[in-house]
Parts: sequence; structure tokens; C-alpha cells
Amino acid sequence: MNIPVYLDYNATTPVAAEVLEAMLPYLAERFGNPSSSHPYGRKAAEAVGAARASVALLLGAAAGEIVFTGCATEANNLALLGVARALAGEKRHLVVSAVEHPAVIEPALYLQSEGWDLSVIPVDAYGRVDPADIAAALRADTALVSIMHANNEVGTIQPIAEIAAITKARGVLLHTDAAQSAGKIPLDVDALGVDLLTLAGHKFFAPKGVGALYVRTGTPIAPIQFGAGQEQGLRPGTENVPQMVGLGAAARLARERLPAATEKLRSLRDALHQRLMAAVPGLILNGHPTERLPNTLHVSFPGIVGRELLSRIDGRVAASVGSACHSDTDAVSGVLAAMGCDASRAAGAVRLSVGWMTTPEEIEAAAAALSEGVNGLLRRRR
Ligand code: PLP
Repeated sequence: MNIPVYLDYNATTPVAAEVLEAMLPYLAERFGNPSSSHPYGRKAAEAVGAARASVALLLGAAAGEIVFTGCATEANNLALLGVARALAGEKRHLVVSAVEHPAVIEPALYLQSEGWDLSVIPVDAYGRVDPADIAAALRADTALVSIMHANNEVGTIQPIAEIAAITKARGVLLHTDAAQSAGKIPLDVDALGVDLLTLAGHKFFAPKGVGALYVRTGTPIAPIQFGAGQEQGLRPGTENVPQMVGLGAAARLARERLPAATEKLRSLRDALHQRLMAAVPGLILNGHPTERLPNTLHVSFPGIVGRELLSRIDGRVAASVGSACHSDTDAVSGVLAAMGCDASRAAGAVRLSVGWMTTPEEIEAAAAALSEGVNGLLRRRR
């Protein structure tokens, strides 16, 4: 059986061998509870501490500013609901962009249903927010602005540092969902100027089921779950030691591979783009031409339905239409709609995302499969 070329690294990544190796002892003999004061517990607590320090180092943060969570969705919920709970009474307004992941939009809408005002900032045709629109939306009672670092569908990178300069000057907190940028481009919380930042382990070679929220020291945030006080009371529950160790190992790998990895991803991605442009007349690039994740190629094939194309070459290429987290419907992607894409361009869209282990041979095979698939579908129409 042919193994399809995996070009869906924005949906999820495999667990890196080094990450698995680091985790295994914590699923076996090093099983202690970090809260226990005997050697089993101390070993587990040390491992969690080392993992926290490693994640912090990836972000230019202090270890005490990292809260481990179960996923990026949970980190985003903690950021939005936690800040809202902490500032309720003083503030009642939130700002998000029109292209946020549901893991930000949904908690924001939930807060709106509780009486918070919500401003949703539009994006341009490349999926970028204009910082001036954020400045115009801020109010005296704005608690938090949440703008993703990089978009999961088209890969557009937002001008977070420029937005941070505005929010900081107005005394408003800034959260960024960096689930897609971690491990692909360098991340530094001070250079970005953010107060809170979300990570997802399974987008950069750690397992599914672990994420983290960076919380700058002094940021007002209240717990949204209650228990025995682990993770500074912000994510109580006995620590998932193997997963935390896995996230720490993935952060170390990302540190070692960046920034060289960025260039490798970009060159594989651009080779795929060039091959497709040569083979498919009228191919349209979605997302920003330069301010974009180096691994992400989101294109619209003219006269083609993306879903039909991917199903035709299902055994040869594994990719997504729109975003894998919610791509099982035929509705036009909210991100493409926000960018003003018409229905046929949106229908023809496919997201191709490469990873560290993608090879030039895979790029060649995927480009051939995609162009043959397009030609086959066009012939059928004629
Ligand atoms: N935020 C972004 C930008 C994402 O791409 C994703 C997943 O695709 C998430 C949040 C949610 O991640 P998880 O499903 O791991 O919670």
C-alpha cells in the first residue's frame, strides 16, 4: 500500500523520536506524583521543573511564567476567561480578530453571553489585522486583546509587536495564540510584547494532550478550575508528568533546530508552490505573500473543488481543505470569508503544510499527484 505524503503538519505532527524517548521513563519506572515528598515524587517534580524551564527558554520567559495545560484550547480558555474573571468589575470589553481559531472565538462569545462587550477586528485580503483598527477599538474598559500570532489555515503572521505597542500604551493586556508559530519561527515574549501566549504541543512534535500558557509575571488572571493548587492554582490536578516532559523535549528540539528549520521549511514549501504554479494555470496563493508561516501553502485551484481534489488523490497526499480541526463541513471557511474570498476561490482551496521531516522527494511526489488530480478533474468537467 502506498503511504500518502503527509502535508498536514498544521493539523498535527508526529511525536519526535527524541520526545518519545524523553517521555518513556515517566510512563514507566519514574511514575511518581510531583507533590509526594519521597524520591519518586522528587524525581517527577524535578522533571516537571526541567520541562518548564525548557518551554520558558523557547519563549524567552521565566520558568515561573509557564502554566502547563491539556491543550491550546484550554490555554486559550484560561487566558480569556481567567483575565475576564480577574478584571470583572473594572472592565467589560474584549477585542479579538475575525480570523481567530474557535478556541479563542468561542470563549470570547461565551463572555459576550455573560454581558461582556466584544469587538471583532476585520482583516485585509491577506488575512492581516491593521493595528490602527485595534487602536480605534480600544476603550477605557477594555480588559484584553487576543490576536493570534499565525493563522492555522492561511499561515498569515499578525503584527503582534506593533499591536503590543498600542495595547501597552493604553494599559490593556495582550494575548496571542501561538499554537501554529511555535517551532516554525522564533518566538520571544519580550520581542512580541505579549502578556499571555498559548502553545500546543502536538503542533511541534510533542504529543496531543499537552499545551502551555505563558503568563507574564504580574498579569491579573483568576483560576477557572479549582482543586489542589497545582500550576500556581491556574491548572489544578495531578501533573501529567510524561506529557510535560514531552513538551519540554519538543521545546528543546525547536530551540536547537531554529532558525535553520525556518529556512528548510520555507525552501520545501516554496519548491512545492513553484511546481504547482508551473503545472496549474491560474493557481491563487491565499494568505500573505511574505508575512506567512514558512511551512504553509494555502492555494486555490481554479475551477476545482478542493475536497474533490484531495479525495481523488487520497492515497497519495494527505492535506486539508481549510483547517483540519473543523474541516468536515462544506461551509466556506470563516478565515477565507473574513479575507473576502469569493465562494469559488474558497471552494477550490487546499492547505498544504510541510514539516521538518518532509523531503524534496515527497514535495515532488505531492506536486505530481496534485497536478494530475487537477487535470483529471478538469478533463471530467469538459
Ligand atoms: N489555536 C490554533 C491557532 C490552532 O491551530 C489550534 C489547532 O488547530 C488550536 C488553537 C487548538 O489546539 P488544540 O486542539 O490542540 O487545543
